[in-house]
Amino acid sequence: MELPFAESFKIKMVEPIRRSSRQEREQWIKEAKYNLFNLRSDQVFIDLLTDSGTGAMSDRQWSAIMLGDESYAGASSYYNLKNAIKNILGFDYIMPTHQGRAAENVLFSVLVKEGDFVPGNSHFDTTKGHIEFRKAHAVDCTIDEAVDTELIHPFKGNVDPKKLEDFLSKHSDKVPFVIVTITNNTAGGQPVSMQNLREVREICNKYGKILVFDSARFAENAYFIKTREEGYANKSIKEIVLEMFSYADAMTMSSKKDANVNIGGFIAMRDQNLWRECSKFNIMFEGYVTYGGMSGRDMNALAVGLDEGTEFDYLETRIKQVEYLGKRLDEFGIPYQKPAGGHAIFIDANKVLPNIPKEQFRAQTLAIELYIEAGVRGVEIGTLLADRDPETRENRYPKLELLRLAIPRRTYTNNHMDVVAVALKNVYDRRHEITKGLEIVWEAPIMRHFTVELKRCE
Ligand SMILES: *Cc1c(COP(=O)(O)O)cnc(C)c1O
Repeated sequence: MELPFAESFKIKMVEPIRRSSRQEREQWIKEAKYNLFNLRSDQVFIDLLTDSGTGAMSDRQWSAIMLGDESYAGASSYYNLKNAIKNILGFDYIMPTHQGRAAENVLFSVLVKEGDFVPGNSHFDTTKGHIEFRKAHAVDCTIDEAVDTELIHPFKGNVDPKKLEDFLSKHSDKVPFVIVTITNNTAGGQPVSMQNLREVREICNKYGKILVFDSARFAENAYFIKTREEGYANKSIKEIVLEMFSYADAMTMSSKKDANVNIGGFIAMRDQNLWRECSKFNIMFEGYVTYGGMSGRDMNALAVGLDEGTEFDYLETRIKQVEYLGKRLDEFGIPYQKPAGGHAIFIDANKVLPNIPKEQFRAQTLAIELYIEAGVRGVEIGTLLADRDPETRENRYPKLELLRLAIPRRTYTNNHMDVVAVALKNVYDRRHEITKGLEIVWEAPIMRHFTVELKRCE
């Protein structure tokens, strides 16, 4: 008999979590103004709000923390990070930042001007925020297949080369760079193929454009290339990662994702002039160029995390857990973005709650129901997140209305995944009784989803 799959780690330290009653949760979510970000973490049983900075570090990472060098300039921890980035990602010039959006802020301060257009594949919310904040525009060139949640496609995160080329052929003079997000988070943690990265590189060469990778989940992307793309099955994750980044001029990184640390980010690039331009903003916004808002100990943990995060056994354990949750949902017929993504399952709220008018935030309503059912916290990736058009101030209604269940790395067991699946089944079974959604009481002018206040529709 073939042996079953098991995790490539054992557990050395635990943190207790607590169940609550439905009555408590109904009260808490009302006090939180139906915004899951407003809950206290001890009001949550299983926290799938994000996989960002919520993972468990390894014993090697914790020991690297003890060796952190807290020198202001030229710390050995900085050089550990620089070497790891050079060896694993292939870039010569690096700049630590306190997290991914800070990397965007610094790099875009150099590259993005008012009136510019930045084409890419479903820009992440902070990426789009930093573009729109500078009165520039994000142009989504993701393949059309990405919005059909039932359609199986191995690389649903791909850029549509034709859309990109059409846009560049008309507006090239207003495009400072092209950005590719690997994996494509907003489309459901869906990977981008090596072939697609190569094609985008060729288009950028043709129009003389810089190519930037928004790289938060680059290692998961490499796992999918290895397991799904022809010609890569026998390559190591590290070989695949090096090839992926060989097509980029620069990258921004949220280390809180695939580098398995609780805080941190960086920019890496090939061009020394770009590094010099960035350094002045880094010093203004983040800190001196050899720490950029990170402590030495955190840079040490990050250097180890980059190494561990690009090992096949680690990635296989990670992605198999996401698949496991997907398979449980298949048993119950619950619709989600297929195939399962790298870091999360994205439930298709348009299919679960079609009776709720789209103006009443279907995915947010589903997120609230799931919380009340079992204390499971997910996050809306839909109309709230899509925000208003910066010019017309009208709500933007994206094609996909998703509830994201992001799975922290090395944190929960498959028993937790079973609780999540059954809780969703219970909500799904009573979906026809859920006919009223939510309305906004207060919202911020930009990135409203973090702080929005809602109430139940009468
Ligand atoms: C998380 C993330 C960011 C922003 O990084 P933070 O560390 O949260 O600031 C940018 N892009 C992508 C694709 C991300 O997943």
